Amino acid sequence: MLTLKFGGTSVGDARAIAQTASVILQTKTQDPHVVVVTSAMSGVTDLLVNAAHAAAAGQRQPYLDARDVLLEKHMTAAQALLASEEELAQYQHHLEEQLRFFTRLCSAVYVLGELTPRGLDAISGLGERLAAPLLAAALRARQTQATWVDAREILVTDDQFGEAAPLLGPTCERSKARLQPLLEAGITPVVTGFIGATATGIPTTLGRGGSDFSAAILGACLQADEIQIWTDVDGILTADPRIVPQARTLRQLSYNEAAEMAYFGAKVIHPKTMLPAVERGIPIRILNTFHPDGPSTLISNHPTGDGLVKAITAIRDLTLINVEGRGMMGVPGIAARTFRAVADVKANVLMISQASSEQSICFVVKNSRSQEVIQALTETFERELARHYIDRIYPVQDVVIIAVVGSGMRGTPGIAGRLFSALGRVGVNVIALAQGSSESNISLVVARPDLETAVRAIHQAFFQNQHVPTPQLV
Ligand code: ASP
Ligand code: MG
Repeated sequence: MLTLKFGGTSVGDARAIAQTASVILQTKTQDPHVVVVTSAMSGVTDLLVNAAHAAAAGQRQPYLDARDVLLEKHMTAAQALLASEEELAQYQHHLEEQLRFFTRLCSAVYVLGELTPRGLDAISGLGERLAAPLLAAALRARQTQATWVDAREILVTDDQFGEAAPLLGPTCERSKARLQPLLEAGITPVVTGFIGATATGIPTTLGRGGSDFSAAILGACLQADEIQIWTDVDGILTADPRIVPQARTLRQLSYNEAAEMAYFGAKVIHPKTMLPAVERGIPIRILNTFHPDGPSTLISNHPTGDGLVKAITAIRDLTLINVEGRGMMGVPGIAARTFRAVADVKANVLMISQASSEQSICFVVKNSRSQEVIQALTETFERELARHYIDRIYPVQDVVIIAVVGSGMRGTPGIAGRLFSALGRVGVNVIALAQGSSESNISLVVARPDLETAVRAIHQAFFQNQHVPTPQLV
């Protein structure tokens, strides 16, 4: 059994939906038991969310316009995909009904002048309920038995609206009861991603981009052999192709490596999203709907091959904060107080580094949080500053973290050397450096203007050097 999830661009218009239907049919020739999970058509969730916020702010027009746009967008696709008048009429009926519900919800928000997280979930989850029936009908138009399933019937969550957590016990029970009979009858279920409901039936969402999560949850419940995430790129690449045109698809990746990459800004699957699959050891494959025979990335517990460095990713818009002073040496509690102050202003720390001389601690936060953090530290260390135990607390603005990820680096000597020679050759200055004890990533802080040069140089050193075997790669 396979779970196939299609993202917004894979159902973005009639052409994309037709392509998605072909991918599903093709997959079914290999394994007839397929559960499909779909996102909303691309742009739809944003439109719904923006209209809801505008309504709360006292504007009517945006949701009236959104209704028209949604009607036109879905009807245009339906007309191109559905030859049967009856199917078309049925879909139109469903669409109009959902859109009436949408305007009713928005007008309630408009009248109240308030949008609660619960209200927003009821509105933002509508897009998937417009896309899933359309994809199911498009499959029927291709002589495949299919039916859409509203995930509110099967995906039970807590009531943390906007970011609800799945309750796996009841979800597995319900999804098996609802989906297995369909599979046994040869019917392909097309389930709405992103949405669920509390045990008492109140609609929830799993957070933006949550359809991947839906697919992992259902795949885990149904013990899928593989969870496939169909998107619009050829899997996960060694680097951002806009920076490195030679970037290649990674064939295999461990769950850990994928999580490290996501943490460091790569557009891969969110670690939380993978969890249900990781716990049951179900492999996740990332593929391109528009290039189905092209390369894909398999994320699993047992990636084969021994490539050292798998990928290079970067996070932008960061500030490095330094706490520096000769009086800090050997004084316990400085680090604890530093990070307590940072936590008190709820700033997220992306990387930490302390030299062994203990004369400075530096760490990285988002640019947008740096002023608050400096302020908090200055207050916390008022006495130490006055006595010059701490000499300076200062930011280095607009830096980036470049992370080099790969569990094969563990225990392999010479990686750091190769990394620094590569950067030295192109004259990039490394401002700070950290390596976790897992040794599966090395993170470097460099100035923003050095980003592209640094990433290209590292890519060149690890992936484009003919003398280095890279068995992982295409
Ligand atoms: N449609 C939802 C969103 O845009 C969920 C998803 O695409 O995964 O966030
Ligand atoms: Mg999306």
